Amino acid sequence: MDTREVIDAARRLADRHIVRDGAGFRLSEHDPDDVWPFGKDGKDTARDLLADGVRVLSEMQDMLYAQDRWSLLAVFQAMDAAGKDGAIKHVMSGVNPQGCEVHSFKAPSAEERDHDFMWRCTRLAPRRGMIGIFNRSYYEEVLVVRVRPEILRGQQLPRELVTDAIWEERFQDICKYERYLSRNGTVIRKFFLHVSKEEQRRRFLARIDDPSKNWKFSEGDVAERAHWDEYMRAYEDAIRKTSSEHAPWVVVPADNKWYTRLVVAAVMIDALASVDLHYPELDEAARARLAETRARLVAE
Ligand code: ATP
Ligand code: MG
Repeated sequence: MDTREVIDAARRLADRHIVRDGAGFRLSEHDPDDVWPFGKDGKDTARDLLADGVRVLSEMQDMLYAQDRWSLLAVFQAMDAAGKDGAIKHVMSGVNPQGCEVHSFKAPSAEERDHDFMWRCTRLAPRRGMIGIFNRSYYEEVLVVRVRPEILRGQQLPRELVTDAIWEERFQDICKYERYLSRNGTVIRKFFLHVSKEEQRRRFLARIDDPSKNWKFSEGDVAERAHWDEYMRAYEDAIRKTSSEHAPWVVVPADNKWYTRLVVAAVMIDALASVDLHYPELDEAARARLAETRARLVAE
């Protein structure tokens, strides 16, 4: 497929999963096992398409970097074992490492807790020309922190600021921040890798049974799993309250890894295709200087 065809196909796939307006969003209307427009045996076709996608993404990233005006922020959120790491690894495999940075956000350190909740993320937002990937993000502050009240109690917030309105306030702050970033040239896409509880169970078992995967398993993941329904409600609410035209969520079906990766690649391509990427063009005077320099080099 040529570049134009890849971009068109990426748009069709992206459109199916993107949430630009969160009003009325329901997670239950999104099937984690969806593989549209493929069949269950679509793996091989998808692999070829992903290779095309990775090539086009790399071309676009080269232009993004050269142009040095726009940046792309891709936020990844999911339950454990949904495939964040694998999706990031595969989709970014063809991209020049110099044009891309990945930041993982775990439980915050003492220094991080001493600041406002977005501080540790905002200082790592991508520079112009860069693709920035957040493997978890400030969204944890309305997800794990909401599901686990003891975390909120452990934050050093002034008591009178912690009210029942805190989640709505955080949603507002996040929306304003994303609006601000997009007005400064950052294209934002937020991925929720939507895995089913049953598929997570299978993947945890595989991590226990296969010694080469044991390192990926932690007892804590099973403890979080016990709060599954609360997490799903928190994700649904976050997607409702923070989806927008300029910072949409993408609900990525995550029960089939090959499909997850293809959708993520498609959305990244579609996001970059939404802005006017091009190599910097020289003006008349710069072109004349270049011609002179060329002539001197040829004459050497
Ligand atoms: P994997 O488990 O695949 O290695 P991961 O992203 O789950 O990847 P972990 O080492 O498990 O990485 O650490 C992430 C944990 O930190 C998650 O359970 C997450 O909820 C938690 N976390 C992230 N941000 C915050 C936060 N702001 N407050 C409290 N906990 C947080
Ligand atoms: Mg984990």
